Amino acid sequence: MKEIREEILKINKDIEIIEDAPMSKYTSFKAGGNAKALINVTSIEDLKALLKLFNEKGVKHMVLGNGSNTLFKDSGYDGIVLRNAIEGEISYDKDPANLEVGEKCQVTVSGTGILLSVLARAVAAESLTGLEFASGIPGSLGGALFMNAGAYGGEMVQVVKTVRVISPDGKEDKIFTNEEMELSYRHSILEENGHIAVEAVLELAKGEKTAIMAEMKELATKRNTKQPVTFPSAGRTFKRPEGHFAGKLVEDAGLKGVSVGGAEVSTLHSGFIINKGGATATDILELIALVQNRVYDEFGVELKPEVRIIG
Ligand SMILES: Cc1cc2nc3c(=O)[nH]c(=O)nc-3n(C[C@H](O)[C@H](O)[C@H](O)COP(=O)(O)OP(=O)(O)OC[C@H]3O[C@@H](n4cnc5c(N)ncnc54)[C@H](O)[C@@H]3O)c2cc1C
Repeated sequence: MKEIREEILKINKDIEIIEDAPMSKYTSFKAGGNAKALINVTSIEDLKALLKLFNEKGVKHMVLGNGSNTLFKDSGYDGIVLRNAIEGEISYDKDPANLEVGEKCQVTVSGTGILLSVLARAVAAESLTGLEFASGIPGSLGGALFMNAGAYGGEMVQVVKTVRVISPDGKEDKIFTNEEMELSYRHSILEENGHIAVEAVLELAKGEKTAIMAEMKELATKRNTKQPVTFPSAGRTFKRPEGHFAGKLVEDAGLKGVSVGGAEVSTLHSGFIINKGGATATDILELIALVQNRVYDEFGVELKPEVRIIG
């Protein structure tokens, strides 16, 4: 680590390297082991240089956003986590104040480390509609692009115009169109080609600020009453299987409230596995396997985790 630390600091002496980083601190499940190191990457230039360096030297690494869909195993991660802390700026192709209701506006976000909730509120303040669905999703914009995050009938594919990406070796810097992103249910091309989303242009429309605010408030109330938001989790644990709802299958299999160590199938929403307190990643993974096996035995349906498991 000493040698690579020196090389990293040659890129930018201000880069903060946290060695033996506890990933429970950087993920919403609040569980899991340590990474060899974690870097809070604050600029696209640093990101490119770090990717180039790590590829040249064969240093194992991965990109993390806000950690709200990721679980690190208790054995940890034997590599460097590049945590996207590139916040950037939000700019508009036309002054939203001068638009007629319904008129389109392109919003450039020059850093995908920004939280979706922050972005949704910023555009709502400009009376732009289209991102209300995302206001309660606790991820970064980059993670949302990677996962094609969605809620309450909205998903990123509906608002993304283009995405600036960096190739995994740090050498290519290019633009993917909405189509090239291949956004589908909890999937994008980034999952296959390892490119990193660093900037995005979204297409929103001028709306009525009071209606936008009311919509966000209503969705927040739904979320806060129907989901176990007061416990650490990674959101819905499983992807929606074709023709079914994961939560319903889990509940019908009699698994509501079932626990392994500190991990529990939420009694409020069976689609969520929560950290009731002190859960290890092993508890969570054992509970995931138990749920998968029981649902398969009962209904012959294979539940696939939506949460990304690392290590
Ligand atoms: C309480 C709760 C509620 C949730 N509700 C929803 C919901 O309604 N809808 C929904 O879709 N999700 C939901 N989620 C899950 C999660 O918030 C989303 O999947 C979110 O998009 C993940 O973003 P993140 O930045 O936290 O990603 P992370 O967990 O940090 O990363 C997820 C994956 O994306 C990759 N990645 C991250 N940033 C980039 C980047 N810039 N470029 C390329 N790859 C990248 C990572 O390598 C990783 O594989 C919920 C989670 C919680 C905890």
